[in-house]
Amino acid sequence: MPKNKDESYHCRICGLEQDFQPWGADGKTPAFELCGCCGVDFGYQDCTPEYVKKFREEWLKKGSKWSNLDEKPTDWALETQMKKIPKEYK
Ligand SMILES: [Zn+2]
Repeated sequence: MPKNKDESYHCRICGLEQDFQPWGADGKTPAFELCGCCGVDFGYQDCTPEYVKKFREEWLKKGSKWSNLDEKPTDWALETQMKKIPKEYK
């Protein structure tokens, strides 16, 4: 597995690493896919830092549930994953 993925591969809401760049190589071309963890629709609820914070707050309030449990690692740790959130969306 390549380990050189930069933060553009991580969800802006929860920090989960994706197999693709949620906002494309230029950071402006959303994939319109769903995050398996927080369930954000890349390109909608994560288009501004304000939207990101609001969505993340709601998600955390609801218990930070995985939208696709099949993708959840057995050793998953929310705090570790959230360290991977792209800088400008923390
Ligand atoms: Zn996410």
